[in-house]
Amino acid sequence: MKCEEFWKHYEEFGITKENETHLLDCAKCRKEFEAEKVLLKAVGGFPEYKAPETLWDRISEELTETKTVTVAKRPFTETIAAYVDELFSWFQVVPLKPVFGALVIMLVSVLATQYYYTRPLTSVEKIAQENKLARDLEETEQEYLAAIDKLSKLTEDKKSFRLIVLSVSAK
Ligand SMILES: [Zn+2]
Repeated sequence: MKCEEFWKHYEEFGITKENETHLLDCAKCRKEFEAEKVLLKAVGGFPEYKAPETLWDRISEELTETKTVTVAKRPFTETIAAYVDELFSWFQVVPLKPVFGALVIMLVSVLATQYYYTRPLTSVEKIAQENKLARDLEETEQEYLAAIDKLSKLTEDKKSFRLIVLSVSAK
């Protein structure tokens, strides 16, 4: 009996006098047989589990199901509405889809900036702002005074120049 025949015989009839001799003669099959015996013993200890009747139906349904994707053009407002819907559904998913995540971050930062510039000032900020206004006013005042100074000096120069001209022409 060849190895192949032994296994065929064994599958059909189990161990018989006929195939037992092959097992005694063939070390290779003996080894495999011992391994199988161990395996069967181990598997035999598992509790039996019966799959629900509908399992295969469900699996085969999913395997054959073809998913159709519609890419028909939608009105713009509908598209926007769909995006908003999707956006809100993605809020439950971590991490956010990068593009929408970026949009949300942008929106939040815009709102935060807007809030920063329109919020009521704290007392420290109010004092700082008043100080700055006072400084600006002082600077402007000084520039104004300097301008007046310059103007009056020019006028003086002009006057004295005229006096010189007059005194010269009088001679
Ligand atoms: Zn063999």
